[in-house]
Amino acid sequence: MPNTHPATEVDVAIVGAGPIGLIFANALARRGVSAMLIDRQSREALEAPASDGREIALTRASQQILERLDVWPRIPESERARMRGAKVFDGESLFAMQIAPGGAQDASLGCLVPNHVIRGAAFSALASLEQAEAGKILWRDESELERFVAGDDSVEITLAGGERVRSRLLVAADGRFSATRRAMGIPAHTYQHGQHMLVCRMNHEYAHDQTAWEWFGHGQTLALLPVDTHCSSVVLTLSPSEMEAQLALSQTAFEADIARRFDHRLGAMTKAEPNADAHRYPLASVYAERFVGRRQALLGDAAVGMHPVTAHGFNLGVEGLWRLTGLIGDARAASRDIASPPLLSRYQRDQRLATGPLFAATMAIVGLYTDDRRRAQWLRKAVLRAGDAAWPVRRLIASHLTRAID
Ligand SMILES: Cc1cc2nc3c(=O)[nH]c(=O)nc-3n(C[C@H](O)[C@H](O)[C@H](O)COP(=O)(O)OP(=O)(O)OC[C@H]3O[C@@H](n4cnc5c(N)ncnc54)[C@H](O)[C@@H]3O)c2cc1C
Repeated sequence: MPNTHPATEVDVAIVGAGPIGLIFANALARRGVSAMLIDRQSREALEAPASDGREIALTRASQQILERLDVWPRIPESERARMRGAKVFDGESLFAMQIAPGGAQDASLGCLVPNHVIRGAAFSALASLEQAEAGKILWRDESELERFVAGDDSVEITLAGGERVRSRLLVAADGRFSATRRAMGIPAHTYQHGQHMLVCRMNHEYAHDQTAWEWFGHGQTLALLPVDTHCSSVVLTLSPSEMEAQLALSQTAFEADIARRFDHRLGAMTKAEPNADAHRYPLASVYAERFVGRRQALLGDAAVGMHPVTAHGFNLGVEGLWRLTGLIGDARAASRDIASPPLLSRYQRDQRLATGPLFAATMAIVGLYTDDRRRAQWLRKAVLRAGDAAWPVRRLIASHLTRAID
């Protein structure tokens, strides 16, 4: 039987209430634009997300945006770890390329916050806004988009349960393997790196100086993100079969093995949460061929799914939602269409300019450092030494991390 109920009207329908979808709805509501959040997870799961092991290095610009949207004050001080700088090591060499913030002596490269804490804070900020801005935010949890038709004035959406929704703009924020992007017919360049990443908090005997380490050994990539003086998040990248073997180790053998991989530079190492499993991510990078379509836009990982090595995925998503909200908010204030072709083209152009060079630089780093052939090994050493003063990739990454919003 055809559904004869009138369609629910909303300005922007967002598929995906991950960190980017939640923060985007918050930003839109503050500009008087109504949003519907559609996510396959339950609202309870989104409100109190479980730890996923990710520590997100936030840029200064992201912190400022989160501050304006009342998300930052909801992140407890104890969950923010300052990162004074980063060092990149190659093989057994003790020589490290330094990535430093520059400027004031107490300046930092950014702040590390667990991903689930950001998600919880984003949910909480939106929930408190919902009370004040009743009617601006609609929730459809445990739900999915079934189909949609984009017309000149609106997008007619049907949700999995049969509900009809009419929105001015449809936004895909459902992650790097976005089903909505596929439904929009937008192709994406996808790079399967053939490697898995393990993340796990570990305590260590010796203190570090709040500096992140990126260590490209032969056959493995290691990173260490500072959490507390004697605690860090360990990030280990291996082939899928090596990862299987690593995860099959007993706890004592796992801890001894990680200390060995770090060449005992931090002394003995133990799991910070002894009974918790390490989290594992198959690595894939994604760059969509277009970020917009007719009354459609991609946001967050659905547009650009970065390799985590340069710690930019979430930050670029925040930049993107801020950019799109600015354009939509200005159009609404001037009583213009909030999803006109020129508006969407401008979003696409600016977001591609902001993400393209970092995506390319990240892919270059991944290529250079995961290639163990002799030529690549030699090139790495040359790049680290010659580039310590002015390596453009290094400057690009450091300046992006420390840049403030306009
Ligand atoms: C190990 C690791 C470390 C990282 N470190 C950093 C870092 O230091 N700095 C940084 O900036 N970034 C980092 N990132 C990247 C960052 O985590 C992502 O960029 C960010 O989570 C993207 O958010 P998102 O909301 O776009 O997507 P997601 O977090 O993937 O959220 C997608 C949402 O969509 C929902 N969904 C999915 N499919 C559907 C569907 N079909 N229908 C309805 N709902 C759906 C999901 O339930 C989820 O809620 C890291 C990533 C990893 C894996």
